[in-house]
Formats: sequence, C-alpha cells, structure tokens
Amino acid sequence: MLDTMKHLVILGAGTAGTIVANASRHRLPSDWQVVVVDPSARHTYQPGLLFVPFGGPTDLERPRVDTFAHGVDWVRLGVSEVDALGRRVTLSNNEVLPYDLLVVATGCRARPDLVEGLTGEGWGTRQHEFYTLDGARRLASALDGFRGGRLVVNVVDTPITHPMAPLEFAFLAEAFLTARGLRAQSEIVYVTPDDTLFARPLAAKRLGDLFAYKNLKVVTEFSTRAVDGATRTLRSFDGREEAYDLLVSIAPHVGAHWVEAGAWGDARGFVRTDPKTLRARAMDHVFAIGDATDLPCAKAGSVAHYQANVLVDDLARIAAGEDPVGGFDGHASFLVETGHGRAMLVDYSNDVEPQGGTFPLPGIGPFTRLEETRANHWGRTAFQWMYWNGLLPARPMPVPTHMGLVGRELPPSLHRPY
Ligand SMILES: Cc1cc2nc3c(=O)[nH]c(=O)nc-3n(C[C@H](O)[C@H](O)[C@H](O)COP(=O)(O)OP(=O)(O)OC[C@H]3O[C@@H](n4cnc5c(N)ncnc54)[C@H](O)[C@@H]3O)c2cc1C
Repeated sequence: MLDTMKHLVILGAGTAGTIVANASRHRLPSDWQVVVVDPSARHTYQPGLLFVPFGGPTDLERPRVDTFAHGVDWVRLGVSEVDALGRRVTLSNNEVLPYDLLVVATGCRARPDLVEGLTGEGWGTRQHEFYTLDGARRLASALDGFRGGRLVVNVVDTPITHPMAPLEFAFLAEAFLTARGLRAQSEIVYVTPDDTLFARPLAAKRLGDLFAYKNLKVVTEFSTRAVDGATRTLRSFDGREEAYDLLVSIAPHVGAHWVEAGAWGDARGFVRTDPKTLRARAMDHVFAIGDATDLPCAKAGSVAHYQANVLVDDLARIAAGEDPVGGFDGHASFLVETGHGRAMLVDYSNDVEPQGGTFPLPGIGPFTRLEETRANHWGRTAFQWMYWNGLLPARPMPVPTHMGLVGRELPPSLHRPY
C-alpha cells in the first residue's frame, strides 16, 4: 500500500528530542508521523546528578516510554548511519527508516578513557566523575569517607555539557565540607583549561569574586596531559603539576560516532549547525538541536528548551508549506548552586551579556540574576518536578524563549560587591 504519511524522525530522546517530539505531535497535522529513535529504556534527569555526590536524591530516572505524548512513535534502537541524500536513517538492526524531516538530538557524552591515566589506578577510588548516575554514586561514597585533603575539580577540555556544573560542584563541596567540620583541613582547587571561570566576563567576575570569598583556589590555562593515579598527580602539557587526594574529573565530550564519520560533523562528532535556523549546514531537511550541535552557545537543558521552541515553530511552518524563519538567539538560563541553600541566576544570549535584575517577571522575579538568593536555590531544586511535568511534555512554560532587556539592572558587582 502506498505510504501517504509524511515522517518527522527525531534521533535521540533526551531533553531536546523529547520536547521536540511531544511539541511536534501537538503542532503537526495528522498526516505527519512523529518518530523518535533512542535505544535506552530510561530517561535521566541530568541536572539532579550534581546533588548525588552530596547525598542528594538518586531517583533521577523515568521509563522513557512514559515521557512521550500520545501519538509519538518510539523506535527502541540506535542509529548507525544517516544518508542525508537518500533521506533515510539506518538503525542498529540494519533496518532503514525514511524521513521527510530529520532532527538530530543525540547529545554528547564525557569520555574519561580519552584522558591518559584517568581510568587507570585509582579510578573509582581517588579519581571520579559525576556526569553519570553510577559515577555520581561512587563519588558520594568517596566524599562520605573523605577526611580532608586536596580536592581537585578538573575540567579537561571544553565544550562540556552544562559548563556551570563543575563550578557548582566546587561550591557544593565547600558547603559539604564546612557542614562536616572538614573545611579547615581541606583545600578545594578548580583546574580549568580556560583563562577564566566562565566565557561571559560579568558572570566570570561575579563567580570569581564568590570563589575568592569562599576561599576556593583557581588554576587557569591548565591543559591536562595525564593523570597519574599512583602518585595522585595531575600533569599539564606545559609541565605543571597539581597534587590531589580526591580528583573530580570532567572528561572531554564527544558527539555521536556516526556524525564524526560523515561530512556534516566536526572532528568530535558535533553537527555543524546554523546558529539561528538550527539547520545542519549543507544538509537539506536536517536540523540539529541541544548538546549534539557545534554551536558556541552553552550545552544545556535550558538552551535545548529555547531551541526546541524555535525549531518546532519552523517544523510546523514547513509542514504547512511555508518557509522556516529561525531566530534562535543563543539564550541560556542557569540557576547556579553556590552552596548553603543559595543559588545565582545567570541568564544571557549571543547578544546580551549577563546582567542583574529579576527573572522571569521584571521587578517581581522570583529569581534574581547574578545574586545568590534562597529563591534561586528553591527554583533549582523544584525544577525536577517542572522537568517531568512541564518541560518534557512541552507544556507552555513561563519563561521567554528569547532574551529580553526588560527587568535588567546594572551589573550587581557595581553596587554590591562580596
Ligand atoms: C551534572 C549535570 C548537571 C546539569 N545541570 C543542568 C542545569 O542545571 N541546567 C541546564 O540547563 N542543563 C543542565 N545540564 C545539561 C543538560 O542535562 C543537557 O544539556 C541536556 O540534557 C541536553 O539535551 P540533549 O537532548 O541534547 O542530550 P541528552 O539529554 O543527553 O539526550 C541525548 C539522547 O540521545 C540518545 N542517543 C545517543 N546516541 C544515540 C544514537 N546513536 N541513536 C539514538 N539515540 C542516541 C541518548 O540515549 C539520549 O537519550 C546538566 C548536565 C549534567 C551532566
């Protein structure tokens, strides 16, 4: 029988893929089939991983089948190849899936095995990661047994998913060790390959002031060459060394292997993507979203959400025979945990630097930009409920997709220093 349906195929059902699938099912006409491809049975709420090492809740997973709207078809297989000219995807069982429109949302993952020595002697005892649930749990045991010493947080290379997470880890470690009476006999050292704590100067200044206030040491421009688990030493390419008693490493991130193999990805497997339209460059009918792209904006769930709003509008336009308009502005919003029950909102876009003021409602909030507040912390902790019940089901959320200037103030560092 002739297939008269049109097919939107979404590769990857993480944060971005699930929002796009659910929102598209609501927006596209009924002669469009919405298919999502993902081999893994469970969906993890990744922002919750940050709290696991400090005794936070570990119930961060849901059956993936429960995250899809009625009418979304889930193919529980991996992707092994995309033929963009033939408009078809080869699945891990060699079956072929044709598409009219394709969205690549396969995210990225940290690869500790790419760092010399990291996964050798001491891996899981002295050297840890917290970007997976198993890793975060192991780190929780290690921190529970930590009796003081040098705790080093090392970002090996960028980009990584959620560039704030390692900074938040350092802040939370400070609060954790203080609460346990171990702060005086501990040193917390943040080792980064960059020359600053964050890519945006105002936020970097604010975070740097807070690091200094909390007596957290920062080592910049440290390009990690190797980890020596036997002597507990981190070595850089320019011959510097940092000793550790406990190392928390954020390993280099890579995209999907089949993207790397194709002409349309960069060397790390990130899809070359137009920053405004989210079209995969040089590929017709292919879009990319979330952590899978090579865009310079942050790899983060909030970014994936804002991108999804722009992309789904365009998918609906294309389905209606209209031209897509794009318009993603690089908007990112982070509630950054700073410890002791407080967090700081950092909100910016490609064109607008982080500033002070309230968000999302001017003058009301409840969140405050570039200030540590309890309301910001409550927002961060309450977000898990919003994630499962608002964000993933693609319900309207009370946050603007595009960055605005209303409600902004001068940088708070100008009138309220630490
Ligand atoms: C510790 C931590 C804390 C974080 N905190 C925050 C925060 O506070 N705020 C924030 O905005 N963001 C945060 N993030 C980042 C956020 O979770 C990610 O940016 C977001 O999940 C990216 O969504 P994505 O859909 O692009 O990728 P993912 O959610 O990672 O989904 C990718 C999906 O693709 C699937 N997949 C992979 N390969 C294939 C394949 N070959 N075939 C089919 N499917 C495949 C995977 O199974 C997965 O389901 C945090 C991340 C971490 C690790």
